[in-house]
Amino acid sequence: MMKTCGFQMRKEKCTGCFPKKRSNDKKGHSPVQTTKDKLHSWYLKNGRHDLPWRQTKNPYKIYLSEIMLQQTQVRTVLERFYFPFLERFPTLKSVAEASEEELLKAWEGLGYYSRARNLHKTARITDGVLPETAEELERLPGIGRSTARAIACFAFGEAQPILDANVRRILFRFFRRRRATEKELWRMAERLFDAQRAYAWNQAMMDLGAGLCLPKEPCCDLCPLAAECRGRTAPQHYPAPKKKKEKPIRKRRILLHERAGRFALLRSQERFHGGLWHFPQSEKVPKGEVLGRVVQHYSHFTLEGELLKVDALPAPLAAAARYFSTEEMENLPMGGADRKVLEAVRSEE
Ligand code: SF4
Repeated sequence: MMKTCGFQMRKEKCTGCFPKKRSNDKKGHSPVQTTKDKLHSWYLKNGRHDLPWRQTKNPYKIYLSEIMLQQTQVRTVLERFYFPFLERFPTLKSVAEASEEELLKAWEGLGYYSRARNLHKTARITDGVLPETAEELERLPGIGRSTARAIACFAFGEAQPILDANVRRILFRFFRRRRATEKELWRMAERLFDAQRAYAWNQAMMDLGAGLCLPKEPCCDLCPLAAECRGRTAPQHYPAPKKKKEKPIRKRRILLHERAGRFALLRSQERFHGGLWHFPQSEKVPKGEVLGRVVQHYSHFTLEGELLKVDALPAPLAAAARYFSTEEMENLPMGGADRKVLEAVRSEE
């Protein structure tokens, strides 16, 4: 009789089984157990054990690393942001006690500032003490399902799989799937998961994705999952590539309005850069002297700004503007484009 896998028995869409040869190995281990053992051995030898957030059980330090790593590479976080941030805010309580502006200033350069705003909200909601379960963590601002599980697993020992970008890519390939819904991906993650060694499993999957199962040119020859990986013969086909969207270009006039050696700035109310200070921008053309141009690439658009020295600001902008010297601006949280504008202003001084 043909065997059915767990998904077929539950009449759910099958995510793909382990290799067709489903017999146990010489030691009597099932293919599932063998895969877990192989990944675990590989991780013990090759894992990134020295990452600072793996050398601690402090929930705040683990949470901070997870949030910083959501959109930023490990190397950048390690070299430029993680330690200075911890020096400035050593506990979640200290985050709760700071103003949002202080938080944004410490986050400057990391981008995706909603992460900092949510960190601040979470610190205040929890009064500096994180809950211990993934279920409770997931209810906090900016903590999605995978991040909640990662914090619960790494800080509090909860045995749950995670699903970050690296893990997703491995699952697509391992189960030879070009497309999958979120629900299916979670099922695949649970199917492979080693609950007995949850911490090591989750870290190992992240390391495998970052070190061997790379988006381009995965190193299948070195991979501990190679024997069981169904996508190994053509890993580049999994997952199906996303259609690349052309990045829109936003053309703006960036207005430099000076008053007694100080320049007008506005505090952003937009979700994207909320809380950051920026030079006033206008799509329409107030008259003024062109001082130069700045270009800033963001993940979803490119800003092309023309710097205009103006005698007056349009009425709605004038009402909201506050004036700062270039020295004072050093202490304000500002985005990359506005830092470039500031440099241009300084070069004119
Ligand atoms: S065998 Fe290749 S495609 Fe499969 S998980 Fe390993 S590196 Fe990725």
